[in-house]
Amino acid sequence: MRQVAIIGSGVAGLLCAHALVKAGHAVTLFSDRTADQWLNESRPTGIAGRFDTAVAFERELGLACWEAEAPKVQGAYLTVCPDVGNRLLTAACRLKKPGMAVDVRLQSHRWMNDLTARGGTIVIEKVTPERLDAIAAGFDLTIVAAGRADLCGLFERDAARSVYSTPQRKLAMLMTRNAPMGFDGVPFLPVKFNLVASSGEAFWVPYFHKDHGPSWSLVFEAKAGGPLDRFDGAKSAADVLRISKEVIKAVFPWDHAWARDMEVSDDLAWLVGTVTPTIRKPVATLPSGRAVMALGDTVMSLDPIGGQGANNCTKMARQLSAAIIARGDEPFDAAWMTDTFNRYWEAQGKAIYTFNNLLLEPISDAGKEILIAQYGARGVVDGPRQSIADAFAENFDDPTLLTPAMQDLGRARAFISEKMGRSWVRSAVTGRLSIAAGQLRQKLGMAPNHPFVVAGALQ
Ligand SMILES: Cc1cc2nc3c(=O)[nH]c(=O)nc-3n(C[C@H](O)[C@H](O)[C@H](O)COP(=O)(O)OP(=O)(O)OC[C@H]3O[C@@H](n4cnc5c(N)ncnc54)[C@H](O)[C@@H]3O)c2cc1C
Repeated sequence: MRQVAIIGSGVAGLLCAHALVKAGHAVTLFSDRTADQWLNESRPTGIAGRFDTAVAFERELGLACWEAEAPKVQGAYLTVCPDVGNRLLTAACRLKKPGMAVDVRLQSHRWMNDLTARGGTIVIEKVTPERLDAIAAGFDLTIVAAGRADLCGLFERDAARSVYSTPQRKLAMLMTRNAPMGFDGVPFLPVKFNLVASSGEAFWVPYFHKDHGPSWSLVFEAKAGGPLDRFDGAKSAADVLRISKEVIKAVFPWDHAWARDMEVSDDLAWLVGTVTPTIRKPVATLPSGRAVMALGDTVMSLDPIGGQGANNCTKMARQLSAAIIARGDEPFDAAWMTDTFNRYWEAQGKAIYTFNNLLLEPISDAGKEILIAQYGARGVVDGPRQSIADAFAENFDDPTLLTPAMQDLGRARAFISEKMGRSWVRSAVTGRLSIAAGQLRQKLGMAPNHPFVVAGALQ
């Protein structure tokens, strides 16, 4: 039995703690708040919507407690616009298995209580760097899963792996209720993703709120100075709601009727700010010379655009806990920590980070070709075009699948040919013709006639 300290009671720290307790290790988890404070006094650190691969680990640990009640995310419905007012194309992309987004306050509350019940120890304390050194002296291994909070700064930015040194978007998040749990015509419950290349993105995620159950969370990803960049002065959930409705009406009018009666879910459930996507070195050496290891957002902070952060935390917690268990009685030294993270990076982390960053950049030629080839898929009937759309959705669950093709036009075309069972050229031509027809219709003042865009309506 190894003695392991974990700092942080978010998804990363708690999943790792549970996996180690299940394997018979002695885990002490340090949290700056109690389970009840998580539930009643905290702001959610994010939406943390997770896909099936991540949920599978929670199932294995007996922690997928909300599967029966939480709304099932069955795919993504995208509207892609070069500029405000021009709907270039839509995509209805289905997941093979659903995902879900559970209120992290409800989750951390339950998982902390479950950890104690299963034999883990929880210490309520805001750990300082000095205290971290003292804690590390008393354990075989100390893991820092403190999110992007202060302790994160102990881990040096990895300049070779980090692509950005500044935030790429200005973010606003809000949990809401009282909007319909679906969209007219779309035959599955999607993440509704609106992309305006010149201005930024906004997406609506089916959500399980701690008090109100099935509901929606909203995220706005504004490019500075554009029409989504409106949230700077927001001081409350009510402010964010008011601005959200104004932005939806002006930039995404097809979702205006859906959002019209929306209300704030609770006064704490909002965020406005920025994230600099950053990869850090996985090991920090403390003044005493002891090494501690980073996990979750502490080592990989991602922009929320691809919904990858908590999925990444879960996958990393799974890999790290397995590595700890496999280590037996050998020491958890700095070399082991670095090697363990490097193996995660090569197997999954790099693809997750690359895919997420692709969504922050102007759409690649390869990505365009894939979206054009799927054009017309309606999420109803299986077929080659639908399988291309669905592969895009599956890449959110496992970014190792399609990310290489999204970066390379040759690979993208080979992927399209394989799915279509014939040369990519025909789908490139028919997709472009259909999209051009939609452009012409809009120029003539008509709806573009994309799948689920009802003629004559703003939907
Ligand atoms: C707007 C937004 C939307 C998002 N949407 C998604 C999504 O749909 N899907 C997805 O996968 N990811 C999403 N994410 C990212 C996701 O929320 C994070 O990646 C994830 O929650 C990070 O988990 P974590 O355990 O690493 O850190 P945290 O959730 O930050 O948890 C760490 C916790 O440790 C505790 N702590 C911190 N410092 C100390 C200390 N010194 N001492 C003791 N305790 C401490 C605090 O309680 C803190 O909350 C989103 C993020 C944002 C901002």
